[in-house]
Amino acid sequence: MTKLEYLLMYQKADLKKQQLENNLRTTESRQKLNKITKLLREQQAAIQKLTEDADAQQTALSRLLAQQEGLSHELELNHSEMETLEADEEVTAEELTEFRVDVERLNRELGRLEKDVKGLLDQLEKTTADFQKARSLGGRAKKEYDRLRAVCEVEKTEGAADIATATKEMETVERQVDPTFLAKYKRARVHHNMPVVPVVNEKCSGCNMSIPMAVIKKLNSQETVLECENCGRILYQK
Ligand SMILES: [Zn+2]
Repeated sequence: MTKLEYLLMYQKADLKKQQLENNLRTTESRQKLNKITKLLREQQAAIQKLTEDADAQQTALSRLLAQQEGLSHELELNHSEMETLEADEEVTAEELTEFRVDVERLNRELGRLEKDVKGLLDQLEKTTADFQKARSLGGRAKKEYDRLRAVCEVEKTEGAADIATATKEMETVERQVDPTFLAKYKRARVHHNMPVVPVVNEKCSGCNMSIPMAVIKKLNSQETVLECENCGRILYQK
C-alpha cells in the first residue's frame, strides 16, 4: 500500500467515527431534547418576569390602598365638621359653599383612586393567572425534559461502544500513516471534516479553486500530497 492509500484509509476511519458521533448528536430524542431545553429556558424567563410584575403591582396596590385609607379618613372628618357647621347659626352661605366644594373635590379624588385600585387588582389577577399557567406548562415541560434526557443517556451509552471501536480502528490505521502526511492531516482537520480531497478537473474538489499546473505536475510525478492554497485541504491526484 502507498502512503496515500494509508492516508485515505485513515480518513475513512475518521469519517466513520465522525458519522457515529454525528448520529448520536442528531437522534430524534436529542433534537427533541434540544428543543425542549430552549422552551424550558424561555418559560423560566417568563416566570421570572411575571414574578417581578406581580411584585411591582403588589407594591403599587399597597400604596394606592394607603392613599385610599387616608382620603377616606379625611372625608369622614370633613363630614362631621360639616354637620357642626350646618348646625351653627352664625355660619355664612359662602363658608358652607366653600366647604362643600372641598368635600366634593375629596370625593372625586377618592373615586379616581377606587378606579385605579380596581384596575390594578384586575392586572394583578391576570398576572397571577398567567403565572400559574406558565408554571403548569413549565412543570409539564420539565417532566418531558427529564424523560428525554434519560433516553439520550441510554443512546449515549449504547453509542459509546461503537465510537470506542471506531476510535481503536482509527488508532490502528494511524500507526501506519506516514508521519509527515499525518501531521498535514491533523493540521487540515482543524478546519475540515474531510481534509483529504482529490483534484478533479484541475480544481480542488473541496473548495473548487483551480490548481496551478506546477502543483498538478508535482502531484503527478511524485508520491506526494500538497495543500490547497485556498482552503488548506490536502490534495491528491486520483
Ligand atoms: Zn481547496
